Amino acid sequence: MTSEKTVYDYFNRPLRDLRISVTDKCNFRCTYCMPAEIFGPDYPFLKRDELLSFEEIERLTRISVNSLGVKKIRITGGEPLMRRSLPELIEKLNNIKGVEDIAMTTNGSLLPKYAKELKAAGLERVSISLDSLKDEIFGKINGRGVTVKTVLDGIDAASEAGLKVKINMVVKRGMNDSEILPMARFFREKGHILRFIEYMDVGNTNEWKLDDVYPKKKIVEDIHQVMALEPVDPNYTGEVASRYRYVGSNDEIGVISSVSDAFCSSCNRARLSASGMLYTCLFASKGHDIKSPLRGNLTDDQLTTLLSDIWNGRRDRYSEERSTASTTRKKIEMSHIGG
Ligand code: SAM
Ligand code: SF4
Ligand code: SF4
Repeated sequence: MTSEKTVYDYFNRPLRDLRISVTDKCNFRCTYCMPAEIFGPDYPFLKRDELLSFEEIERLTRISVNSLGVKKIRITGGEPLMRRSLPELIEKLNNIKGVEDIAMTTNGSLLPKYAKELKAAGLERVSISLDSLKDEIFGKINGRGVTVKTVLDGIDAASEAGLKVKINMVVKRGMNDSEILPMARFFREKGHILRFIEYMDVGNTNEWKLDDVYPKKKIVEDIHQVMALEPVDPNYTGEVASRYRYVGSNDEIGVISSVSDAFCSSCNRARLSASGMLYTCLFASKGHDIKSPLRGNLTDDQLTTLLSDIWNGRRDRYSEERSTASTTRKKIEMSHIGG
């Protein structure tokens, strides 16, 4: 059975995209995501039995695709490749009829080991995060001194395995805005789409300040002064990145401007944490426990009703309300929800 039914939220937005975090652990300690001072050796990461099993994730995905209208799946984390036997999960999800696309967001460090297996299991696309081409800057950002080459090797391994590759760069003022142009040049040359992500106030541990945001307008201007850019229409409704093309070519970049230019009105994403909480917004304060009902004896129909009731009641539009929202509000951490 393929997807026939679509659920809509309070603002008439359909559910199309399910982002699944498979672990809260990571081998990096990016300052804007899992600062080492907080995510130290004693941090209480989830235990194995607290994580959703692959079978549980598969069941929820099947229900979401068959009965709720989900079409796209993205695997994330923490660092998703820290989850043992991940290709097995990809294979299970790939076997669900109606899944149109399976992608993953990763820091790339473990791709040399897993890229081929992931591709064979049905993964189509990877977004690989890299914030600088200079070891000095990147080592500080990732908090573990990981070299740029480690990630570049991951990017090459993914391309060689036949995965479609995009690069994600979080831009934070004073941290790596000097790397915007070098990164743009490098990845244009290499033939990968680079997407700049405005630094966001996800969670409460990164001490986000509006002044730290390097806005979309500035990013585009910085590049345009040297390599002329022109806007391109979105590929589909709900695409989060604004697209730009280098004039006179087909080479592109994207900018994800959650802070300076919100896109809540077309947001069709739900996020499932590794511990089985469902969040209807990246900036949610609270989620919905799906693991307990899953581990109880609810039928597929009952789970479908539970999930569609959650989506029907969704009123999230945090990025549109950010300027008036309380900055001290408790929010879920990025490493739990996966971006
Ligand atoms: N570990 C994987 C990675 O880094 O790609 C997947 C999880 S990570 C949480 C997903 C994405 O969120 C990454 O591209 C990361 O750079 C981005 N990210 C994390 N914290 C962020 C923040 N405060 N603002 C903007 N993007 C952020
Ligand atoms: Fe790990 Fe990704 Fe967060 Fe960096 S952004 S700490 S790689 S989960
Ligand atoms: Fe979607 Fe929430 Fe981001 Fe708005 S703030 S685009 S509702 S995740």
